[in-house]
Amino acid sequence: MNIQTRARKLSSLTSWPYQKAHQAIVALGTQARDLARENNWPLDRAEAYLIDANLDPEYREVRDRYMSILRCDNCDRGFFQGMDKKGMTTSGSDKYCPACREKYGVWVCEECGEESLGEAPETGICQDCWDYKMSKD
Ligand SMILES: [Zn+2]
Ligand SMILES: [Zn+2]
Repeated sequence: MNIQTRARKLSSLTSWPYQKAHQAIVALGTQARDLARENNWPLDRAEAYLIDANLDPEYREVRDRYMSILRCDNCDRGFFQGMDKKGMTTSGSDKYCPACREKYGVWVCEECGEESLGEAPETGICQDCWDYKMSKD
């Protein structure tokens, strides 16, 4: 996506004039490209996020006092997680991005509380816990 297209997208997102959006993108320099690479985000998403985090729909969804960007275990994309002062998750997942959670569904292991994508197995516990149980018996 070239800068003209990105500037047009940003201008419709912010309702800024095209010229202002263009300048804002240029002013970011290499920052946006680095962030996009780091999180496997499209460049226009990284630009919008750096200009105003609230432009990011996933950010808006989580929005909390403390936020961190984690890597999705499944698709390796950066996603947001809200935390309290002690670093406990208050919103979102600490393992999977919203897109993967939505697409595959999530279940929680009855034994260790870890999240996994997909359908819960009949045992209700994850492979690791199952293996551990088997090795003990
Ligand atoms: Zn994902
Ligand atoms: Zn488990």
